[in-house]
Amino acid sequence: MAQSLDSATRDALAERLRFYRDLGLTEFYQRPVDPALMAQLAARPEEAQTETSQPVLFQEEAPIPSRKHISEPPQVVAAIPAADHAAALQIIRDEIGDCTRCALHKGRNKLVFADGDPNARLMFVGEGPGADEDAQGLPFVGKAGQLLNNMIGAMGLKREQVYIANVVKCRPPGNRTPEPEEGNTCSPFLFRQIDVVQPQVLVALGATAATYLLGMRQPLAGLRGRVHAFRGMQLIITYHPAYLLRDPRQKKEAWADLQIAMKELGLKPPSKA
Ligand code: SF4
Repeated sequence: MAQSLDSATRDALAERLRFYRDLGLTEFYQRPVDPALMAQLAARPEEAQTETSQPVLFQEEAPIPSRKHISEPPQVVAAIPAADHAAALQIIRDEIGDCTRCALHKGRNKLVFADGDPNARLMFVGEGPGADEDAQGLPFVGKAGQLLNNMIGAMGLKREQVYIANVVKCRPPGNRTPEPEEGNTCSPFLFRQIDVVQPQVLVALGATAATYLLGMRQPLAGLRGRVHAFRGMQLIITYHPAYLLRDPRQKKEAWADLQIAMKELGLKPPSKA
C-alpha cells in the first residue's frame, strides 16, 4: 500500500519530474508508477499531464538507416544553468544505467559515457568506443585519442577543457560502424548530453558522428570546411582521428577544419616556445 505524501514530498517529486522532463529524459515517465502516487500527482495538472502523456525516448521500431534511417535530431530543450550541468549529466548517466537497450551491450566491458568539462565551450563527438576505451570506460584514450589530445593541444586547449562523447556508448564488435538500430537507440543520450553541455562549438569526428548529428547521410567531403547551424550551436565536421592515423596526409585538412572551430571560439594557436 502506498503511503500518503505530504505536501513537501509531493512538491519535491513534482520538481524532479519537471527536471527530468526539461532534460528530455522522457523514458522516466514510462516506468511503472504506483497508482496511488499517480493519483496524488494528478492533483497537480501540469505533472499529471506529463505523467500520462506518451513521449517516447526510444522508438519501438527504429528507422533503418540508409538515408531515411537517420532519425530527425530531437528538439532542443530549455537551457540548463551552468552550475547544474554536472548534475544533469549524472542524471543522464544514471538513466542509461547498466544499459541493455541495444545489442552492443553484449560485448562491452565498460560503458563509455563521456569525458571532460560539463561546461565546455567545445565538444567533440566521435563514433563509438574502441578496445582501449572499452577497457578504461573513457572515450578517446587509445592511439586515436592521443592524436585527438594533440589536436586539442594545437588549438591551445587542454583535454580537460573540452567535452568528449560518442554516438554509441558501447564498443561495436571489431570496431565496426554501429548498426542503424544501435545508433538510433543510443544517440538520444548523446543529444541530451549536448543539450546539457551546450557548447558553443561542436566538432563531429568522422562520417558516423556527422550523420547522426545532421540526421542525414552525406559524403564527408561535402560537409567539411564550413560551419553548420546546429541546435543553436556551430557544428564543424572533420575527419575521425583513427582515419587520420591511417592517412596522415589528411591531417592538414583536419587542422584547417579545427582552425574554423578556433575562429568561432576566438582562439589563437599557442605560440611556439
Ligand atoms: Fe545502451 Fe547505448 Fe550501449 Fe546500446 S550502445 S547498450 S543503447 S548504452
